[in-house]
Order: sequence, then C-alpha cells, then structure tokens
Amino acid sequence: MYNTKAYSAASAKSPLAHTQIKRRDPTERDVQIEILFCGICHSDLHLVRNEWSSIMPAVYPIVPGHEIVGRVTKVGPAVAKYKPGDLAAVGCLVDSDGTCPQCKARLEQFCPNLTLTFNSPDKHLGGVTYGGYSDSIVVDERFVLRVPSSLNLAGAAPLLCAGITTYSPMRHRGVTKGKKVGVVGLGGLGHMGVKFARAFGAHVVVFTTSPNKKEDALRLGGDEVVVSRNADEMKKHSGSFDFILDAVSAEHDINAYINLLAREGNLTLVGAPAKPLSVSAFSLIMGRRSLSGSNIGGIAETQEMLDFCGAHNITADVEVIPIQKVNEAYERLLKSDVKYRFSIDMASLKSE
Ligand code: NAP
Ligand code: ZN
Repeated sequence: MYNTKAYSAASAKSPLAHTQIKRRDPTERDVQIEILFCGICHSDLHLVRNEWSSIMPAVYPIVPGHEIVGRVTKVGPAVAKYKPGDLAAVGCLVDSDGTCPQCKARLEQFCPNLTLTFNSPDKHLGGVTYGGYSDSIVVDERFVLRVPSSLNLAGAAPLLCAGITTYSPMRHRGVTKGKKVGVVGLGGLGHMGVKFARAFGAHVVVFTTSPNKKEDALRLGGDEVVVSRNADEMKKHSGSFDFILDAVSAEHDINAYINLLAREGNLTLVGAPAKPLSVSAFSLIMGRRSLSGSNIGGIAETQEMLDFCGAHNITADVEVIPIQKVNEAYERLLKSDVKYRFSIDMASLKSE
C-alpha cells in the first residue's frame, strides 16, 4: 500500500477538502496511473451529498471522480496492454465478475457484482473504492482504456462518463442520418449528446431552460434550439421526434418531452434526479411511444467511443479548474452554470 493525495468529503454537508488515502500496490494485472485530469460529473455531486441515499448510500469519507485520464507509472507483471509512460483512462467501472450474462454480453455496467470507481466495496483493501479527485489510482488492466493521443486531455476526461453515457443509447437506438433527435438539458452529458447526434448525422434539436445557452447549442452541433419554458416553441415540435435523450439532473416534467415523440419514438433517460418522475400513461399509449433508461456503457463500447472521438476529433468543452475550486464548481453545477464540463487539472493537488 502507498499514500496518495486526494480530495474527500467527510459528510453530506461537508465541503470537499484535502486528505491522504491509501492505494494498493499494483498486483499481477494492475495498472498504476498518475491522474492528470478528472472531470466533474453531476453524479459526483449527487453521491457526495447523499442524494441517492435510497439506491446507493454514500460512505464517508467519499472521494468522487470517474472521468479520469492520466499516464501509466507502473504495471503488474501480467499486464500486456500498457507500459509506463502510456496515456490511459478510467471511467465509472473498475471491476466486475466477468462471468454473469451481462459481462458475457460485454455490458459490464449491468453486472450485479460490479465495482464502481468510487463508493463501492473495495475487494482489495476493504472499505470503499476512492475515485479520481486524487493523485493516482490503481486499476485492473481490463478496466483501463486507451486515449487517442491526438485528443486534448482535459477535454478527453469527460468522455469517460459524459461521453459514453450519451454515445451508448444513441448507438443502441440507431441515431443516424435522417432521424430527428432531441437532447434535453445542455450540461455535461447534454452537450456531448449534441456532439454525438451531430456526428451521427441526425437533425438535432436542443432543449434548454437557459436562454443564454442558445448560441452555444447551435455552435455545439444543434440544428435548432428550443427554450423549454416557452410552451409555443415546444408545441411546434409535437409528435415529431424519433429519439429524445433526457440528460436533466433535477425534477422536471418528462411528459412534455414524451409528447414530442413521433409514433413509436423513444425517450431515453440518462439523467438521474433524486426524486421519482411522474409519467402520464396517455403520453405513452398515444402513439405506442416508449420510455427507457441507459447507464454509461460497457468497456468495449467505451473504447469504441474513445476511438470514434479520436477519429472525429471530439472532446468535451471544458472549463479547466484547480482542485481548490471544486466546491465552487459544485455550486455552479446546481445553477446550470457550466460550459460545459469542469475538468480538474490534477497538477494543482501537488501543492497541497
Ligand atoms: P449537469 O452538467 O449539471 O447538466 C444538467 C443540465 O440539466 C443543466 O445544465 C440544465 O441544462 C438542466 N437542468 C438542471 N436543472 C434543471 C431543472 N430544474 N429543470 C430542467 N432542466 C434542468 O449534469 P450532468 O453531469 O450532465 O448529469 C446530468 C444527469 O445525468 C445527472 O442526474 C447525473 O447524475 C446523470 N448521469 C447519469 C449517467 C448514466 O449512466 N445514466 C451518467 C452520468 C450522469 P439547461 O441549462 O440546458 O436547461
Ligand atoms: Zn458520471
């Protein structure tokens, strides 16, 4: 075991602050990574503040962060794919059982025995896993990803969660040229959804509650923007969408979007508000519409997404911050004031 610097919260009401944590020494198949950048996902905030307590109670101290890019510093003797000096990335998953039907289908994100990057039981050291707001991390090579070297690293970090979470359902639902696609909520996930839908050739409509994001929505790849608080603007799109991706982090009226689906259209929820959403049966039955959900993506698909981003030069639009600004960044997330992902420059942790 060795000590490494990190930022943790001591309770749901405490700010994140500097601490020391223990990591395991790399075993046979482990890769040790010096973390260069870590994105801030709204899930970090939900978990740190224990907003998902009924599903996934937070264990304190909690070290969040699951959008990790860095450089390999050491590898175990059985590691074949990575060597010291390589760029490497880690997303939301660091282990799974490898034997269940979900793992066999390469959908490790649904494995009943998966280990999340933070706040999951740690099989090696006991306690819980600690995430990417940290100097370094040690991960089984099966859960380490390759980052195309052409990509800006600060902007690549958010691909590990915001990227795969929006790429996967769009691929699954066949978003391509000729489809009309809506993206609801222009935050970290939403802005990646807009970029992917555009790259897949769809006609993209962005729904936002923030009129000041209109110009950005078009620049990021939207063909049209709707300020969702304007009922007339919403009505114009009634019954017209093949697919809508809902990436909103808070309570909102989901029926307003289901009603915009065409016959047999699908709305996929990736946003995970703490409180249940209410769904009108009529919104669904009129037009045989469907409502579904999606959770990040498997490891193979995450690599596919990273390679796609390398080939199309896609990264997140990031505001790079030192770790000392993380609490301020959380407050800004709550005000929808992020353009469009915070990426922590982990070099800033060295001065603590
Ligand atoms: P984010 O950057 O904070 O973006 C959320 C966006 O939702 C905001 O920018 C805002 O967009 C909109 N919004 C916020 N409050 C709203 C309200 N009261 N009514 C309507 N719209 C509102 O968050 P994120 O990191 O993208 O995460 C979004 C959600 O996805 C979170 O709940 C997160 O936990 C979840 N998530 C799920 C997965 C998964 O695998 N399913 C993975 C990662 C994250 P506008 O300003 O454009 O309205
Ligand atoms: Zn996330």
